[in-house]
Amino acid sequence: MRVLVTGGAGYIGSHTLLELMAQGHEVCVYDSYVNANPKVLDRVRSLSNGKLGDVTGDVRDAAGLDAVFSDFEPEAVIHFAGLKAVGESEERPLAYYDVNVGGTLTLLHAMDRAGCRKIIFSSSATVYGEPVYLPYDEAHPTAPLSVYGRTKLMAEQILADWSKQAGDRAAVLLRYFNPVGAHHSGEIGEDPSDIPNNLVPYIAQVAIGKRPALQVFGTDYDTPDGTGLRDYIHVVDLARAHVAALGYAAGNAGCQPFNIGTGQSVSVRQMVAAFERACGAPIPTRTAPRRAGDIAAMQADPSRAKAAFGWRAEHSLDEMMASTWRWQSQNPDGYGNG
Ligand code: NAD
Ligand code: UDP
Repeated sequence: MRVLVTGGAGYIGSHTLLELMAQGHEVCVYDSYVNANPKVLDRVRSLSNGKLGDVTGDVRDAAGLDAVFSDFEPEAVIHFAGLKAVGESEERPLAYYDVNVGGTLTLLHAMDRAGCRKIIFSSSATVYGEPVYLPYDEAHPTAPLSVYGRTKLMAEQILADWSKQAGDRAAVLLRYFNPVGAHHSGEIGEDPSDIPNNLVPYIAQVAIGKRPALQVFGTDYDTPDGTGLRDYIHVVDLARAHVAALGYAAGNAGCQPFNIGTGQSVSVRQMVAAFERACGAPIPTRTAPRRAGDIAAMQADPSRAKAAFGWRAEHSLDEMMASTWRWQSQNPDGYGNG
């Protein structure tokens, strides 16, 4: 298929480009580079034989979208473009609603004008909020705890209503758990532009000597070792979920949510130990108070994605950490040095 990938130069998008091209899809990236380095596309091209187009533009720019829909004529869109920092979303709520909700709306209008009826959307497990039960299944109530989570839920609701119109519109909502890791080559990976908010990039920067120690946010949770539990998923597994979901969207109409996680939960302490195995050195840690807004534990029930489009996570925790370390050690300054 011809697939337009908004936000395709970002962390998850760049890994997805490789998986799409490996399956023979024709791909065009549409990205504003507000949180990505254009060099990533050179790396993606050198790792693949597929044809990769790219257009610089903002998802809130209707004319820019119309131009790419008219030139590339995509049969489907994978919509990664968005702002993703939970803490920042509380400080800049309107920016988050503008890009994540407004951008999705502008994109859907452009799709309608072009007659494009299939979309895969980057949603998040944060739409569930405080667990009523675990593992979360897709029927779990949604009650996001942050502006960021609310933007994702609103975009989901817009996509659901959009898909109900006449025709074979399909919206696949992929609710990601915690994406980590990097491509096995070590050539592409997560490249935070600032102090990392997320656990694994932070640990990786401690390991490379950029930061003195990891702060462990909360050691008094009601979990086996007192630290927070999350369902970490290898970014390549996550990328493959998009390719599988495309096939599903092509053959179905309507809007469906799917959890994309492993179904396992891992503590902060276990993550540190796994990274130490990968890099062969101790990671200094300091205990710190709980981080505001954090929940104790989350875990996916990913069985619905398996039943609908045959996807399941395949990479182990050690592979997540080994690939992160390969990326970080080969690119101590991310794409900045490449
Ligand atoms: P990322 O920031 O690396 O990628 C997002 C990409 O979108 C970047 O390349 C950025 O330049 C681009 N972008 C941002 N605003 C844009 C705009 N207005 N117009 C065009 N391009 C724009 O983030 P990521 O980790 O790859 O996440 C991709 C998507 O998945 C996001 O929508 C994010 O909310 C969602 N998500 C991420 C996580 C995670 O932990 N990484 C978890 C759940 C959901
Ligand atoms: N965490 C931590 N130190 C950090 C960053 C994160 O202890 O510097 C913990 C955090 O409290 C949570 C887990 O690691 O229990 C995963 O956090 P992350 O921000 O990566 O994901 P999220 O909380 O959004 O699921």
